[in-house]
Amino acid sequence: MSEYEASPLSRATIRQITTMIREEFNLTTEKYFPIVEFLELAMPRLDEKFVLLPVSKSEMGSKHGLAFPDNKLIKIREDVYDGAIDGKGRDRFTLAHELGHYLLHQKEHVSFARTMGAEEKLPAFRNPEWQANAFAGELLAPPHIIKDMSVFEIVRYCGISSQAAKIQLQYVNK
Ligand SMILES: [Zn+2]
Repeated sequence: MSEYEASPLSRATIRQITTMIREEFNLTTEKYFPIVEFLELAMPRLDEKFVLLPVSKSEMGSKHGLAFPDNKLIKIREDVYDGAIDGKGRDRFTLAHELGHYLLHQKEHVSFARTMGAEEKLPAFRNPEWQANAFAGELLAPPHIIKDMSVFEIVRYCGISSQAAKIQLQYVNK
């Protein structure tokens, strides 16, 4: 469970945001979303102080990526960054997930959650981890691209893991 509570965002709203991003950069029909190039070349055009910083394993430890929207920074563990460049689905998803945090969770949208009791769960649509995962799935494998594909094809053409592809297929008609 996350210690933060974010402003509620439905998958439909997140899908509108990822659709706009693809449209803005003429990537609407692109099966393989170029997430590394997007972060390195497109993001600084949107936000001139933005930096994507690969960080050593010793500094990042078990964390694969961290987004700091208020400092215009996304840190990515260097092996994850290299994996994303090599097209590894899991690592590409991590970059998209951190981009989701960066764009969706600027300070004004995130607050410390109330102290929650054991049985009180954060609703999915207020959970920033759920939101960042939904953002990554929608950005890398949007319904209009994957609707007639098998899991195998999504993995191959969209460059995401089979696990993420299966999840994303569940949302094609939702
Ligand atoms: Zn996260």
